[in-house]
Amino acid sequence: MTSRPPHRKAKDHRWEGVDLLPYKEDDRALFKSITRQVLFSDPDMHAELRYFEMAPGGFSTLERHVHMHAVLILRGCGHCLVGDEVKSLEPRDLVTVPPMTWHQFRATKGEPLGFICMVNAARDKPQLPTAEDLAKLSSDAKIDAFLRNEPG
Ligand code: MN
Repeated sequence: MTSRPPHRKAKDHRWEGVDLLPYKEDDRALFKSITRQVLFSDPDMHAELRYFEMAPGGFSTLERHVHMHAVLILRGCGHCLVGDEVKSLEPRDLVTVPPMTWHQFRATKGEPLGFICMVNAARDKPQLPTAEDLAKLSSDAKIDAFLRNEPG
């Protein structure tokens, strides 16, 4: 573990001493224009705090898993899908993703979307939707519009 100074500044949503990482290593997963910074991670902590940022029109992977997410929107705007609900997002909104619930975050076309995400340090691997899962999700008109990046 590298030593961490007790206080670090951020500039333009980049924190001192924090690497800008690819969103994830899983190349089966569909995503677009999104980066990751791990803000807090320590063997003695059971949670990690990460910052994700999507460029305008970018999106996270549509996935589900047993572990939960606690999300705080920090910048920009967009929409999220959690279960069968599509919600618009703006700074300071809170989003809770319960276990085994389909979820995805999408930046609005002209705006980035940046959020803090708290997650278990030890967690299960995300599941991706099958063609059948996608068909089921898309049968709901508002979810279909969200998945086509055309939220109402
Ligand atoms: Mn997730």
